[in-house]
Amino acid sequence: MHELSLLDRVRELALAQAERHGASRITAISLRIGALAGVDPEALRFAHEVVMADTIAAGSLLHLELVAARCFCNPCGVPFAAADGICVCPDCGTISGELLQGRELELAALELV
Ligand SMILES: [Zn+2]
Repeated sequence: MHELSLLDRVRELALAQAERHGASRITAISLRIGALAGVDPEALRFAHEVVMADTIAAGSLLHLELVAARCFCNPCGVPFAAADGICVCPDCGTISGELLQGRELELAALELV
């Protein structure tokens, strides 16, 4: 499962940061997830429990910050929401290759104790 390897990487980052801050526990982990990142929030929650077990992040909360997909239309000079990841400008119909956001897949924040 794709989500497990993602959470493996998050665990490494989170544990390294906790160590740097001398934290004894990680109580919450926030991830920023783009609408087009191709991950399933439910699978992420499951993977989070599995991957964090037996670490100082065991039992931590998982916050998911969902980021909508947005593209930029050059002819109109404006950004627009890309429904289902299809970057067609609603005003002029131009297909935009400029995705502004929506593919994020990153560690946003940690709560340490
Ligand atoms: Zn346009």
